[in-house]
Amino acid sequence: MISFVMPIHNEEEGISKFLDEEFLPIVQEISGYEKEIILVNDGSTDKTLSILQEYAKKNKEIRVVALSRNFGKEPALSAGIYVARGDAIITIDADGQQPPKLIPKFIEKWEKGAEIVTGVRDKYTKHGLIPKLGSKLFYRLLKMMGSKSTVPGSTDFRLIDRVVADEFNKLSEHNRITRGLIDWLGFRQEYIYYIYGVRMAGKPSYSFKKLVHLAVDSFVSMSTTPLVIFGYIGIMITIFSFMLGMFIIIQQYILGDPLGLKWNGAVQMTVFITFLVGLVLISQAITALYISHIHAESQGRPLYIIDKKESRNLK
Ligand code: UDP
Ligand code: MG
Repeated sequence: MISFVMPIHNEEEGISKFLDEEFLPIVQEISGYEKEIILVNDGSTDKTLSILQEYAKKNKEIRVVALSRNFGKEPALSAGIYVARGDAIITIDADGQQPPKLIPKFIEKWEKGAEIVTGVRDKYTKHGLIPKLGSKLFYRLLKMMGSKSTVPGSTDFRLIDRVVADEFNKLSEHNRITRGLIDWLGFRQEYIYYIYGVRMAGKPSYSFKKLVHLAVDSFVSMSTTPLVIFGYIGIMITIFSFMLGMFIIIQQYILGDPLGLKWNGAVQMTVFITFLVGLVLISQAITALYISHIHAESQGRPLYIIDKKESRNLK
């Protein structure tokens, strides 16, 4: 069975057109598999839910998951993946920006052995300047900040195998970025490049503020590098001001100021205080590391993920 998961929030203007003209015809053409289409209504405040329920009445392959309120796209995706029963699960946006035409290609790669097939936006097309810069910057920063292997332009247009979905369902953190978590899980991943389309109707729900939140969340949940950087700055400041302090003591008090610098008390005080600032930064970084360890534990991620398909004679 192949499952399709679609997170949907306030898409009344475009959803029928997208389902009737783009998505469902493509799905119908896929043969050789049972199919289910999971439409996750993420607390829409317009008529979206009743539209979806109409579809479910007419088409037995369509299942509607109605969340109790708007949780956001990431939790909506997770809910859909949890409910899905397929051997492969394909996630796709409801606004037509991710072309359903490509679905057969995802399935082809999966049939050839890929366990994750991720759609990657070819360039950051047809998006305003800020989201464009934003997402480039976002991925560059993610990489710099030590997150493992998020390919720039990765989107949530994706196929995951049952084994990946089972492991994904075990993850318990609340602040989740599906992309990052899927990368963290490992498994055999392949990519499909596509041109990001224009919204069929309505407005994107991700405001700039939400995007910034998303970015901060991914830094905080995927890495500790920002904390450690300040620790290193602290170490440098400490070493530098210590040497400067020694220089003052030797030059001025032991050798009797042969260079004639006549550095007064204010200068000495400044050097001393800088030294203390260095120490404070170091101790802050150490505290931060403790916190990050506690944070890692409280996330409750499993220590390792077993690839059940590739292991032998385990049970
Ligand atoms: N979405 C959702 N919950 C939200 C926001 C968005 O389920 O709180 C859905 C939305 O209906 C769409 C998909 O997630 O199907 C992508 O949303 P959007 O187009 O707003 O984001 P972008 O295209 O900028 O990634
Ligand atoms: Mg969109």
